[in-house]
Amino acid sequence: MSKTLFAKDALLPTGWRRNVLLSWDDAGRLTQVQPDAVAPRDAPVSAGPLIPGMPNLHSHAFQRAFGGLTEFRGAAQDSFWSWRTLMYRFAAQISPAQVEAIATWLYIEMLEAGYSAVCEFHYLHHAPDGTPYVDDAELALALLRAAERTGIGLTLLPVLYQTSGFGGLPPNEGQRRFIRATDSMLRLLERLRPLCEAQGARLGLAPHSLRAVPPEGLREALAGLDAIDATAPVHIHIAEQTAEVDACLAWSGQRPVAWLLDHAEVDARWCLVHATHMDAAEYRRAAASGAVAGLCPTTEANLGDGIFDFGAWRGAGGRWGVGSDSHACVNAAEELMMLEYSQRLATRQRNVGADAGEPSVASAMTLAAVQGGAQASGRAVAGLAPGQQADFVVLDAAHPSLAGLSAADMLSAHVFASHRSSAVDTVWVAGRPRVSAGRHPLHSQAAAAFIAARTQLLTTP
Ligand SMILES: [Zn+2]
Repeated sequence: MSKTLFAKDALLPTGWRRNVLLSWDDAGRLTQVQPDAVAPRDAPVSAGPLIPGMPNLHSHAFQRAFGGLTEFRGAAQDSFWSWRTLMYRFAAQISPAQVEAIATWLYIEMLEAGYSAVCEFHYLHHAPDGTPYVDDAELALALLRAAERTGIGLTLLPVLYQTSGFGGLPPNEGQRRFIRATDSMLRLLERLRPLCEAQGARLGLAPHSLRAVPPEGLREALAGLDAIDATAPVHIHIAEQTAEVDACLAWSGQRPVAWLLDHAEVDARWCLVHATHMDAAEYRRAAASGAVAGLCPTTEANLGDGIFDFGAWRGAGGRWGVGSDSHACVNAAEELMMLEYSQRLATRQRNVGADAGEPSVASAMTLAAVQGGAQASGRAVAGLAPGQQADFVVLDAAHPSLAGLSAADMLSAHVFASHRSSAVDTVWVAGRPRVSAGRHPLHSQAAAAFIAARTQLLTTP
């Protein structure tokens, strides 16, 4: 297979460039990204503009199976917490084979929608009755197989979950499949590490949240992780809900982000997932830590979480990326659109995500989200530059919304005006085409297996 591609237009970390020649090595790492090049006679030419593949920094794969099933009013006032009750009911019965079928289909949807990598925040560990599987890594292995089969890049983040609330409240019945003692988690990480390495996946750790991990569990787990891999990524859900902020204040006298910054060495390894509810000092301090804000705009909108103050975060130099979280929507472009629109509605301004160096909001947001997503992934997937993985997306230049536009405007149309009809043509991961003409080769087969798994789940009493 050829290891070069010539693109008339490509979005490099420095912006749009013309006549770009890309080359990569056998491992799928870019060795050359040369703008203003002359196309070699035998080099394949990209059919449309090239943009970097988007790392999806936050996913709970199994949640894909109940998309659309929580969109009705169950109580006088539905909230994140009533949604969670339904999610727990679903999580209680799902089998390893069903997890694998759902994740396989989900990762194909991600690839077809412009994501080239995913950070899997994996908290379903045990059998439905809460006892460990004979192989304690059973469900993690199902996710590894799904990633391997589909070709998506993976950062696997086994989740530490120990309590049901601040102050060490014992876990409830709905959480029995999630619970692990710290030493059990460290043994799981030891078991998974060589398996991840063998398939080019990165292993990290996700303390679920401050309400689910008490201070000593957090401290011991992070020390244990450091002993295994001192640069491994660490992700945590934080300040997603105002009720969580209130509970943290009642417990500690501090808001969650402030507490975390005071009690853990939060740095560039960290991804603060959501971080929706921060005060001005928390925005400044969290941004200065170098951590990535893991924004999940469509899920946050779906769950009624609140609106992240993107202006305050960027003003403080904060890094950020996007994730599809509950998978209410699986589309890299649409997360950027939702983020930008939330800010337009909140601030009554337009093109909030643009910056001085890049006036096109879709281009600026794509570049920033790829950088932040790569940092949160702990993998070399930071865009079209030598040393990074050859992960890129070719936009469909013949799509009616894009045809005839400049490359930058094509990306704008892809993000803001393609009306959810995919303008993704080809997706390459580590120098291999995984999606061609908008379709993954396993699309139909994986869709059928997903539908069968969901039907089983819905018909199980
Ligand atoms: Zn989440």
